[in-house]
Amino acid sequence: MLALDLIIKKRNGGKLTREEIEYFVDRYTKGEIPDYQASAFLMAVFFNGMDTDETLWLTEAMLHSGDIVDLSCIPGVKVDKHSTGGVGDKTTLVIAPVVASYGVPVAKMSGRGLGHTGGTIDKLESIPGFRTSLSREEFVANVKEIGIAVAGQTDNLVPADKKLYALRDVTGTVENISLIAASIMSKKLASGSDAIVLDVKVGSGAFMKTIAEAEKLAGLMVDIGRGAGKKTVALITDMDRPLGNKIGNAMEVCEAVDILSGKGPCDLKEVCVELAANMLFVAGKGDIEYCRSLAAEAIEKRTALNKLTEMVIRQGGDPKVIEDTSKLPKARYKAEWKAETAGYIEKMHAEKLGYASLILGAGRKSKEDIIDHSAGIELLKKPADKVEQGETLAILHTSDENRIPGALAILKTAVSTGPDPVPKPPLVLGRIE
Ligand code: URA
Repeated sequence: MLALDLIIKKRNGGKLTREEIEYFVDRYTKGEIPDYQASAFLMAVFFNGMDTDETLWLTEAMLHSGDIVDLSCIPGVKVDKHSTGGVGDKTTLVIAPVVASYGVPVAKMSGRGLGHTGGTIDKLESIPGFRTSLSREEFVANVKEIGIAVAGQTDNLVPADKKLYALRDVTGTVENISLIAASIMSKKLASGSDAIVLDVKVGSGAFMKTIAEAEKLAGLMVDIGRGAGKKTVALITDMDRPLGNKIGNAMEVCEAVDILSGKGPCDLKEVCVELAANMLFVAGKGDIEYCRSLAAEAIEKRTALNKLTEMVIRQGGDPKVIEDTSKLPKARYKAEWKAETAGYIEKMHAEKLGYASLILGAGRKSKEDIIDHSAGIELLKKPADKVEQGETLAILHTSDENRIPGALAILKTAVSTGPDPVPKPPLVLGRIE
């Protein structure tokens, strides 16, 4: 078998066999297929797609590219959650402690930013001292002892995804249903939890731009999870506008702490309560209505905030930043983004906001880029709000003032206003069980 044959077969719209997919994943993971051939292969998949069989074979081949975590020594239903990626999506930082505060073990392996979307690991690393790189033993011990661990994938957890994820990020091959489903589900299955809640984002800031695509991805992932014997639920949530008011790593940690302290924006709280309720539900804590009330109570009573602090301490982070978020990294430079026209905000293009934030330093343009944890965008206005001409829509934060004009140029095209009031669309758009 030759990598070139597989590239040509997929380029011509053919269906790959299980053996061919296993060959590609195995050889690429071992470094025997170079990045340039893997890039061509991914682009062929991007354009010609994979059917359900091929997606399952890809998921399995990726799953078996490394170790599979055994959490059976931890009592209880271990619950995991994964988002397909969005702008301002800091829900893990809120819901993992909410769920763990009820004694439901949360063993969460998270990723870094991908394209215009942020990643939980980058966000957590903005907490001084916080270690996201845990050995398998430490990860399991933390879940066993304090009921929660959020860490990067260990080196040998789905190494195929580590390489492919980074390559897709810089080759324009992220937004493909099969590649996303295999990437997410191989990691979820390898992470060893018993139940999984998937947050499939849809809209301009998501990889899935339409509800139909989001439903297809959600259905595919729920089928893969169920087929592997895991209780799996998917929510479809809005990502046509950024979630919450802050985009950028340290700023998002700050906003998550606000939510856990009973403050913060309502949209973020609503999505967090819904996701946490579904995690409690798959863990068998009661019906969904009751689980919603549990999630809200953990926020009100600050038991979830205490759990977050416990996790931060356990993973080497400075707990003072949770007590006082002004101690999180702060950018040297600030600039204002001002409204050019008065009216009601009809749209804020979430993907463009994500890219503007990346330009400011919050994300990576290439695999090697180093994140500026303090960089990002703080929105003062959101869709449906009324603005006057010249009013500040957002404050840009960066450590490199040369990045500001580029970010502002993107933002200029990211908003549209109109003369009439705009209704707020719903945030939770569907649920697949
Ligand atoms: N999140 C993942 O883990 N993988 C993807 O491909 C997209 C989002």
